[in-house]
Amino acid sequence: MKRNCPDQTLRAEIHVHTTASDGSMSPDQLIKLAKKKHLDTIAITDHDTFRGASLALRISKLMDDPPLIIPGAEIRTVDHGDIIVLCQEPHEDYPKYLDELKDWGKENNCILIAAHPYHIGRHSIGKSIKENLDLVDAIEVWNSRGVPLLNYPAIRLAEETGKPYTSGSDAHVPRELGTSPILYCDDIREPADLFDLITSKKIIPVFGVPGPVTLAEIVAWAIIKRLG
Ligand SMILES: [Zn+2]
Repeated sequence: MKRNCPDQTLRAEIHVHTTASDGSMSPDQLIKLAKKKHLDTIAITDHDTFRGASLALRISKLMDDPPLIIPGAEIRTVDHGDIIVLCQEPHEDYPKYLDELKDWGKENNCILIAAHPYHIGRHSIGKSIKENLDLVDAIEVWNSRGVPLLNYPAIRLAEETGKPYTSGSDAHVPRELGTSPILYCDDIREPADLFDLITSKKIIPVFGVPGPVTLAEIVAWAIIKRLG
């Protein structure tokens, strides 16, 4: 998973939530913060909706030098937990079973990533990822939320199988944004360019961990959501 960029290192945050699902940031706030944090690409991956990504795309067209927006969603499949789907454009309908989602993704030039596969107590594909590895394009080997140790089986699986890998902060609050981006070297113009970099393993995952202040913000947001 090691690769150094000779000229420039670019950063993509590809697992983020907005107010279109359970995040605290509106798409507008998210893009502005991404720019401030020098993130070059953002994939917006709200739970079961591309609405956050649609709004972000519209807003980014009005901005000077916006980050590249990748339309995405974190889809809760009926049979295999949460799957991150990154596409060329937002979609309204998609299948809910992983094998059908895989075919649909192929037809629509999307890629599928198994989100936090071994995290306990979350909606994840779990151990069945081994026999269903062909149904995803990549494994999220590092997810900053939850217990860091639970990422290690995913790293091992990617190393053993040669499967492409990603990392993601799974940001729901501002401080989390950019904790675990993927790094890449080449200038990209459209989502398909990033998908090529991921599937050809030309990215470097970042294994970040939220600091204490970020953790406090995460807990505060969880309380607000519960009360709200
Ligand atoms: Zn998520």
